[in-house]
Amino acid sequence: QKDEWAKLVNDQTITSDGAHVELAANIGTPKDLDGVISNGAEGIGLYRTEFLYMGRDNLPSEEEQYEAYKEVIERMEGKPVVIRTLDIGGDKELPYLDLPKEMNPFLGFRAIRLCLEQQDLFRVQLRALLRASAFGNLKIMFPMIAVLEELRQAKALLNEEKDKLIAEGISVSDSIEVGIMVEIPSTAVASPQFAKEVDFFSIGTNDLIQYTFAADRMNEQVSYLYQPYHPAILRLVDMVIKAAHKEGKWVGMCGEMAGDEVAIPLLLGLGLDEFSMSATSILPARSQLLKLSKEELASVAQNALQLDTADEVEQLIRTEYL
Ligand code: PEP
Ligand code: MG
Repeated sequence: QKDEWAKLVNDQTITSDGAHVELAANIGTPKDLDGVISNGAEGIGLYRTEFLYMGRDNLPSEEEQYEAYKEVIERMEGKPVVIRTLDIGGDKELPYLDLPKEMNPFLGFRAIRLCLEQQDLFRVQLRALLRASAFGNLKIMFPMIAVLEELRQAKALLNEEKDKLIAEGISVSDSIEVGIMVEIPSTAVASPQFAKEVDFFSIGTNDLIQYTFAADRMNEQVSYLYQPYHPAILRLVDMVIKAAHKEGKWVGMCGEMAGDEVAIPLLLGLGLDEFSMSATSILPARSQLLKLSKEELASVAQNALQLDTADEVEQLIRTEYL
């Protein structure tokens, strides 16, 4: 099996009926790039920038961030690189920011909520990203967007920093796509509105599942409620993809579900455009996708939406497609 996978490193991911999907990698630092390249990723679907801010006692400077982003963008040689702005809070803490202890950190002051409030910190990151954009194919993604106003504010800050840089004579790409994580149920449900104001969506199932079932993703006692195949989740995914495609926008997924062998046939059938996963999952996923028919799975996936439980969905896929 390993030999079979190795042969696929330089291939595109094309299904048995000729549909192209993109297989991208999730990374946390530029050090992950060797694995990304050796496993044949077609892009970076999620660069979690919070690791730049963690394990130290002060904020990373604009220069330090610029160097990290530039390295990733350059080494991907024009392939798409989705960099997510700071997603701190919840399970990821930053001691030096001295934030108040919260009753419900996962529902609290985190990610874009914090960035829109602490704009100095956010602007530094936006400047570093914009400067790095000149070196390849950068796409900027905002985490934990719950309402349109947050997206509009984040985009306004991005545009302000872009105008400033251009006025300073610094080169910035003029084709940066701007998208959001869809990881809060309100955003999935309101995806027709969001789709008009973004260039892409990336579905963050780790959080979308936790918030949909109201079950802490870190709490083992409620882990039975982490149900990626549940029709409730599949329906949200279906809504988001349809809303985006209606506006001519693409949809990725960067939660763990995107690399899951049971989920992959369903996601292909629902029309997902980009699957982003840990680098080591890419070749097995490519090998699986080459044998699947998107057209056939489109009707299987629509049937799955009508089932009662996650177990029924899993059985449907396991008996026919694994
Ligand atoms: C997610 O929520 O699915 C996601 C990809 O982001 P993170 O795991 O970093 O919260
Ligand atoms: Mg998340």
